[in-house]
Amino acid sequence: MATNRTFTMLKPDAVEKGHIGAILDKIAAAGFKIVAMKLTQMTKADAETFYAIHNERPFFGELVAYMTRGPIVAAILEKENAVSDFRTLIGATNPADAAEGTIRKMFADSISENAVHGSDSDENAAIEGAFHFSGRDTF
Ligand code: UDP
Ligand code: MG
Repeated sequence: MATNRTFTMLKPDAVEKGHIGAILDKIAAAGFKIVAMKLTQMTKADAETFYAIHNERPFFGELVAYMTRGPIVAAILEKENAVSDFRTLIGATNPADAAEGTIRKMFADSISENAVHGSDSDENAAIEGAFHFSGRDTF
């Protein structure tokens, strides 16, 4: 994946609450182009692998249960400075600390159920995008 791409998931809470359209509108309005997208559900093994970096943290079991309890929207997004601009658009991990107008401020309930994922580096964007999409499903 080129370094002008990032990876996102609209998490189960956002999908359950019917916020897919509103969040995609904000992503499009911020200038991101969707180059891959699907509605899918992560298995326990998927979530344990995707979040392996957090497997020693006290919230790990809760995080895996949350991320597997229903469908997510996975997508690869393209824009200049995609990784850092998308992290700015989503806001802080804890919505209580997120800036006004950010996706987490608008749509998230708590530090654990925070509506959306955004990759934290170009390297992880490439790894996470490849975890969910094959080359033929990426444009
Ligand atoms: N998380 C949690 N409790 C915490 C910190 C994180 O449940 O104290 C969850 C939350 O869903 C978060 C995810 O674990 O989005 C990954 O945490 P990270 O610190 O990587 O935050 P992010 O990069 O998503 O902002
Ligand atoms: Mg993270």
